[in-house]
Amino acid sequence: MRRKLAAGNWKMNGLRAALAELEALSQTHPEPDVDILVCPPATLISSAAQTVENANISIGGQDCHAELSGAHTGDISAAMLVDAGASAVILGHSERREDHEESSEMVRAKGRTAQGAGLAAVICLGESLAQREAANTLDIIAGQLAASLPDNSTAENLVIAYEPIWAIGTGMIPNMAQIGEVHDFIRTRLERRFGAGVGRGVRILYGGSVNPGNAAEIFAVPNVDGALVGGASLKAEDFSPIIKAL
Ligand code: 13P
Repeated sequence: MRRKLAAGNWKMNGLRAALAELEALSQTHPEPDVDILVCPPATLISSAAQTVENANISIGGQDCHAELSGAHTGDISAAMLVDAGASAVILGHSERREDHEESSEMVRAKGRTAQGAGLAAVICLGESLAQREAANTLDIIAGQLAASLPDNSTAENLVIAYEPIWAIGTGMIPNMAQIGEVHDFIRTRLERRFGAGVGRGVRILYGGSVNPGNAAEIFAVPNVDGALVGGASLKAEDFSPIIKAL
């Protein structure tokens, strides 16, 4: 059975003082029966990893380069993330696809490199509001899945995050039938591409305006294996009830 995963994406938020939130989280969840992953900004990865050293909390990056090393000023390699104490990396978030014009092909190349370095790739997909209103959601998801996922992914080194762009930071979420439709669709595509074993093992997270008030309802939807949480992951008092709802 797939183990549930509560993942927090701090985005471009968090100075060193924010490590206190991780400390609080590790004290509130000494023996979690779900996986907990927190992805702080790159500047905090190393100290975050030290903060949770004795807790059952994993630390991840928010991006990495597709190349192993070299002349790429400002970029971070997968090996650097591992070296700093990360075990996962978010790739292809819609904010990176938009701010940095990342294509699905680039996301796939990054994913391959990340997996090769021993990281789990948390690959993000999702439709815009215009695409949903034009009834193109499943076509968009199919295209992103086909182009963004590395071949030879396993249930251990791949996580999918379905994040409708219009639900990110807006307080709006799809209804439960809409979430279920997309997650079921992703599951079917994963099984078709990677075979039943891997396809059934990969976790599919929902992301976009998850909060303590809506988490339980979302987590009750079949094929929702957890959440990728933005704003509500910044404070332990908000993230903790979401973890408990899993
Ligand atoms: P919010 O939870 O702030 O809507 O962000 C979701 C997200 O983009 C997580 O990656």
